[in-house]
Amino acid sequence: MEFTKIDGLKISAEVKAEVKEEVGRLAEIGVVPCLAVVLVGDDPASKIYVANKQKACEAVGIKSLSYILPEDTEQDELDELIESLNESGEVNGILVQLPLPKHLDEDRVIKLISPKKDVDCFHPYNVGRLWTGDPFFLPCTPAGVIELIKRSGFEIEGKDCVVIGRSNIVGKPVSALLQAENGTVTMCHSKTKNLGEICKRADIIVVATGHPNTLTADMVKNGAVVIDVGINRKPDGKLCGDADYENISKKGVAMTPVPGGVGPMTIAMLMKNCVKAVSGE
Ligand code: NDP
Repeated sequence: MEFTKIDGLKISAEVKAEVKEEVGRLAEIGVVPCLAVVLVGDDPASKIYVANKQKACEAVGIKSLSYILPEDTEQDELDELIESLNESGEVNGILVQLPLPKHLDEDRVIKLISPKKDVDCFHPYNVGRLWTGDPFFLPCTPAGVIELIKRSGFEIEGKDCVVIGRSNIVGKPVSALLQAENGTVTMCHSKTKNLGEICKRADIIVVATGHPNTLTADMVKNGAVVIDVGINRKPDGKLCGDADYENISKKGVAMTPVPGGVGPMTIAMLMKNCVKAVSGE
């Protein structure tokens, strides 16, 4: 069995091309989707993420408005901005780049964004809809994981799936979506015993821990599909994922690289949500 690289750049380009077509159809009836992006402070990584999201908007024809607020912005000022964006007739989607500076309450901000404009799918209302099998928005990174698997031609139904990591942003919603696709899901985390043995049985492994080499070659069976969500910076400045790509890719598996795997899919799925926000239910 040969190694297959699951190419997130190629698949995300396909998704963005589909979004662009949809945006074109909306333009014919005079509708331009509009995403408001809010960035508080000077975090360099956040600035890059915001710039990439705006570039993607431009490429598919979505209007983006940016609100760059200083590091010392008060909670009241941020609340007021979000409330005004909630009420705006022009804005369809609102994205507040996380993490926020320490003095601001992220949980409050997530709950303040109108669920109808919650293109990140972080609001408890949208999270509830996801878990009850009636999603409106799909969470971007987890939905990107599912698209990578399906568009690469792999079935999820009936497969043994292992998710390593149980965060609200990645692990838990990935589990919800894999279950919605009829996968049999085992959730693992930092207290899991015998992680290697559990992974070794899996047909599909999604790793999202934020630690390089969480998943090593001896933990993966031949024929498995491995999706690496992690983004870590190595001492030499290069990026790596949570899985040992170099050695796992010597096996007969299908796997995403980092960079060029899940990362570009997250933005593509955000674009999809911006169009969804216009179309409504
Ligand atoms: P969190 O830190 O919120 O969660 C990490 C999870 O991994 C926790 O559930 C933790 O367990 C578990 N964990 C940590 N170490 C181990 C271990 N050795 N074995 C098993 N489980 C472990 O991280 P996020 O979910 O927010 O992000 C995970 C990674 O994904 C990061 O590298 C992040 O940068 C990346 N990411 C990438 C995105 C993309 O677009 N590609 C988007 C979002 C995140 P416990 O709950 O017990 O503490």
